[in-house]
Amino acid sequence: MSIIIENLDHIYDRGTPYETKALDAISLEIETGEFIGIIGHTGSGKSTLIQHLNGLIKPSSGRIVINGEKVKMTDVRKKVGLVFQYPEYQLFEETIAKDIAFGPENLGLKEAEVEERVKEAMTLVGLDYDLMKDKSPFELSGGQKRRVAIAGVLAMKAEVLILDEPTAGLDPKGRDEILTQIKALHAKHKNTVILVSHSMEDVGKLADRLFVMNKGKLALSGRPSEVFKEADFLESIGLGVPQVVKLSEALKSKGIIIDKEIVTVEDAKSELMRLLRRK
Ligand code: ADP
Ligand code: MG
Repeated sequence: MSIIIENLDHIYDRGTPYETKALDAISLEIETGEFIGIIGHTGSGKSTLIQHLNGLIKPSSGRIVINGEKVKMTDVRKKVGLVFQYPEYQLFEETIAKDIAFGPENLGLKEAEVEERVKEAMTLVGLDYDLMKDKSPFELSGGQKRRVAIAGVLAMKAEVLILDEPTAGLDPKGRDEILTQIKALHAKHKNTVILVSHSMEDVGKLADRLFVMNKGKLALSGRPSEVFKEADFLESIGLGVPQVVKLSEALKSKGIIIDKEIVTVEDAKSELMRLLRRK
C-alpha cells in the first residue's frame, strides 16, 4: 500500500493559548513494502505524523492519499496497524490469547481463523502459544507485555505496520529481540513497516529510508548512509549518528580508503576485515 502525504499541517488546540503547530508542511511518499524509519527528538512531531496515517487524527490542512485513494479513510484502520508507544498499558483481557484475539474478533473473523492468527502472531513475537496463551498478561515482564501488545496488532494482518518507539524503556536485550523480530517479519511478509525511534543506531540498522523530523518539519530524508553524511546537522537537532559511522569517518580522515558505505557494525566488520586481509 503506497502512502502519499501532501503539505500536511497539524495544529493542536487552535485558537487557545496552548496552540501548537505540531506538523508544518510535511510532504512525503512511502512505497509498498518499504521499511521506513522516522526519527527525531522528543516533541518533533513523530507521533502526530503517524497517527494521521491510520485516521486517528485529522489534518488541519493538507492531505493523505493511501493507495491512490483506493482506500476509504473509514477502512484505513484495518489496513494500517499502529502499535502505540508503551502499548502494554492498553492490555486489558484476562488471558494473553484473549487480548491478542480482540482485534481480529472485531474484524468479524470466524473463531478458528482468530485462533490461527493468535497462534501465528504469538510465534512471530517469540511467545510460545501453548505455554503462554492462558496466562494473564499482567503476570509478564515489561518486555513480554510489549510483545503481547505488538502481537495484538500483528494479528490484524494490516498491510502497513507502524510502531511508535517499540523499544522505549526496554533493556538492550529486550530491545534487540523486538527489533530482530520486526526485521524478520518484514523480510517474510514484505509489508510496509514504519518504525518510529529516537535512536539512530536502531533505525540505521533496519530501515531502507529515513525521515528526520525537527520541530514539526521534515528536515531530511534519504537512505541511512545519505542521512548520516549530515552528521553536523543531525547533532545540531539533538540527534547523533551511530558510533560506527563516526569511526568510519575518522578512518577516512586518516587517509584509509573505505569503499563501502558503513551504517552498521556488521558493515564495519566486513570492510575492516577486507582491508586487513589486503595488507
Ligand atoms: P514526538 O512523537 O516526536 O515526541 P509529538 O507528535 O508527540 O512528538 O508532539 C509534537 C508536538 O505536539 C509537541 O509540541 C507536543 O507537545 C504537541 N502535542 C502532542 N500531542 C498533543 C495533544 N494531544 N494535545 C496538544 N499538544 C500535543
Ligand atoms: Mg512520540
